[in-house]
Amino acid sequence: MKLASPRDRAGRFVNWARTETSTPSEWSRPTTEGEVAHAVDRARAAGTSVRVIGAGHSWSRIAVPEAVAMSLDAMAGDVRVDDARQTVTVPGGMRLRDLSAHLLRSGLSLPIVGSIQAQTVAGAIATGTHGSSLTHGNLSSLVTAVRVVAGTGEVVDIGRDDERLNALRVHLGALGVVTRVTLRVRAAGRLHQLIEHLPVEAVPDALPEIAASAEYVKVWWLAHASSAQVIRYTRTDDPVTRRPAAATSRWIDERVMHRSVFPALVRLQHRRPAVTAGINERLSRMYLGAASQIGQDALMLNTPMPMRHRETEAAVPMGTAPEAVRRVLDLFQGGRPAVSFPLEIRFVRGDDAWMSPASVQDRGADTCQIGAYSTDGPDCTSYFDAFWRVMRPLGARPHWGKELDHTADELRPLYCHMDRFTALRDQLDPQRVFGGEFHSRVLGR
Ligand SMILES: Cc1cc2nc3c(=O)[nH]c(=O)nc-3n(C[C@H](O)[C@H](O)[C@H](O)COP(=O)(O)OP(=O)(O)OC[C@H]3O[C@@H](n4cnc5c(N)ncnc54)[C@H](O)[C@@H]3O)c2cc1C
Repeated sequence: MKLASPRDRAGRFVNWARTETSTPSEWSRPTTEGEVAHAVDRARAAGTSVRVIGAGHSWSRIAVPEAVAMSLDAMAGDVRVDDARQTVTVPGGMRLRDLSAHLLRSGLSLPIVGSIQAQTVAGAIATGTHGSSLTHGNLSSLVTAVRVVAGTGEVVDIGRDDERLNALRVHLGALGVVTRVTLRVRAAGRLHQLIEHLPVEAVPDALPEIAASAEYVKVWWLAHASSAQVIRYTRTDDPVTRRPAAATSRWIDERVMHRSVFPALVRLQHRRPAVTAGINERLSRMYLGAASQIGQDALMLNTPMPMRHRETEAAVPMGTAPEAVRRVLDLFQGGRPAVSFPLEIRFVRGDDAWMSPASVQDRGADTCQIGAYSTDGPDCTSYFDAFWRVMRPLGARPHWGKELDHTADELRPLYCHMDRFTALRDQLDPQRVFGGEFHSRVLGR
């Protein structure tokens, strides 16, 4: 499948959701680390900025270029597997999908992936991209080394014993151009996916038990619907099941449901918001009934590519999760906001990265990440505003790659290592070559 490019024919930057655009002064496409350093030196001398673009799959303005837009897609570089250490070292601009395919040929896989694999490795770790597992952390927690071209033009290697690695793990694109990343891998295997159903009102109290019930487990339901899907994945040596049927149903989901049926229903819901709840309940019933299948691990954890939509997401400590979900459910009393997309609850093992939404720091807990998704309909913005009105008092941290309007002043109390992060930024990028409006807002300077 062709992967979407964040550069359109007119040379503008356009993110995946088509909600953020800008016209860079220049697109830089280095082929070597020397050329990266040269472009950074030129920008620094000119007093301008460089924004490295991964796959442009963030909803937030974190990837929006204001001057030079740099793409690493021409910097192929080699992929080195270290069998003894069970790690792989890859170019930062490599797409996760290409990495997974490469690993599979060596009988290896990433222990955790999110819903899709269109992102680049450096772009995914920049924002703390995650899947759902209390056994495994987010993708950044797999990182054991990073090479970065700093804003000073210097090439810096940061390995597993260097405390700065915890800054680079979730780097926000603020510390330099990430040219190489080393990640932990493991033997590839198969996962058994089992989908069961639960009344939505039972979800909050059941969350702690659900989160601990499988190596990978997530919960989602269509807004307004009365039934939630609990999707568990466990390792198995059993053979792949129903391969043709699974491939066909994924094809139908991607090509027919997501590209034709859902968009038509969504257009109707945008015109007549009052019908949203009823349609969602009927759609949700179409998917009732337990489902079970076995497939290759990374593939099973991915979902079909959804239709374009908007997302915001809050990370709360596991202990707060039931109350947080109850508050979100309360938002839907009375049929508004009219939302025609799912809510998704995922679990992320706590980590040590300074700016990771799942970082334990002074919270001492694993994290529950609550995703609020919506098409860009009449109620979307008020829905996200209402979502954050109930999440903020719970000390929720926003996902860096999804819509957020937070400022440094409110983020600092949520991240006890934020000052260390900004101090490192002062060292690696004193002239703010990698700065801009978004980064000034969330990091303060
Ligand atoms: C359909 C869809 C599904 C998604 N599913 C999930 C999911 O399951 N879980 C989840 O947590 N998130 C998910 N996301 C969000 C996505 O994973 C993040 O926003 C991710 O950061 C995007 O990666 P990217 O390569 O597109 O980076 P971009 O969005 O292009 O960039 C993100 C940041 O990384 C910086 N950057 C990129 N490359 C480099 C580099 N080489 N050096 C320095 N800085 C760099 C950019 O400057 C920017 O600051 C999803 C997004 C979409 C559109």
